[in-house]
Amino acid sequence: MRIAFFGPPGAGKGTQALMLADKTKHKHISTGAMIRDAMKAKTPIGEAARTYMDEGVLVPDHLVQQLAQLAIEENQLDCFILDGFPRTLPQARWLNAFLAEHGTPLHAILSLVVPDEIIIDRLSKRRVHAETGVNYHLDFKPPPKDIDPSLIIQRPDDKPEAIRKRLAVYHQQTEPIESYFRDIGLLIEVDGVGTFDEVQHRIDVAIEKARERYYAALER
Ligand code: AMP
Repeated sequence: MRIAFFGPPGAGKGTQALMLADKTKHKHISTGAMIRDAMKAKTPIGEAARTYMDEGVLVPDHLVQQLAQLAIEENQLDCFILDGFPRTLPQARWLNAFLAEHGTPLHAILSLVVPDEIIIDRLSKRRVHAETGVNYHLDFKPPPKDIDPSLIIQRPDDKPEAIRKRLAVYHQQTEPIESYFRDIGLLIEVDGVGTFDEVQHRIDVAIEKARERYYAALER
C-alpha cells in the first residue's frame, strides 16, 4: 500500500509509522531522517538543508521533494509509509501529481489527532540519553535508576517554548494540507490519544478502511 502519516510533532507518527512498516514489510520513508543522513554525509542536499534544520524551520520544498522522490522510486512506487512528508501544501500537490503520473495514487493519509495541551505535556516530559539517544518519558517510561542522571537531558526543541513554536509552524504551514487531502477523499482521522497499543489498533482499522475504499473505487 501507499500510506502517509500526518499530524503535529509529538503525535506519535514516527513510532507508529515505524511499527506499521515493520509489521507490514513496507518501507518507512522519513524525510527528517533522510535530511539528517544527508547532512552527516555532507551531500549537496544535506549542506543546503543545514541552515534550515539548525534554525528549526522547514527545509525548502524542492530539496525535500528530491529526497522523497528518490526513496519512493527506489521502492518501485509501492509498499511505502511516508512519515513527515508532505508537510506543506506544495509538497502535498507535488506528491499527488507525481504518484498520479505513475498510476500509483496514495491509498490514504492517516491523520493522528492529538490536542495541543497533550502534545506540550508529552514532549516537555520527554528526556533523551545523551550518549545512546534512547528516549524516555518522565511518567510512562522513566529513565532507569542506575543511569547517571547527568546523561539524561532534555532536547532544546522539547522545552515548552520551543514546542509552542513547532506547534505554531505546524498549524500555519502543515495543517492546511489536511483539508486538501480531505477534499480529495484521502484523509482518514485517527484518534491519537491513548496508549501505544490503543492507537496502533485504531491505525489497523483505518488501514483496512483505506484498503476497502481503494478497491471499491477501482471497481467503479
Ligand atoms: P522530523 O524528524 O520529521 O521531526 O524532521 C526534522 C526536521 O527536518 C524538521 O523540523 C524540518 O526542518 C525538516 N523536515 C523534515 N521533513 C520535512 C518536510 N517534509 N518538509 C520540510 N522540512 C522537513
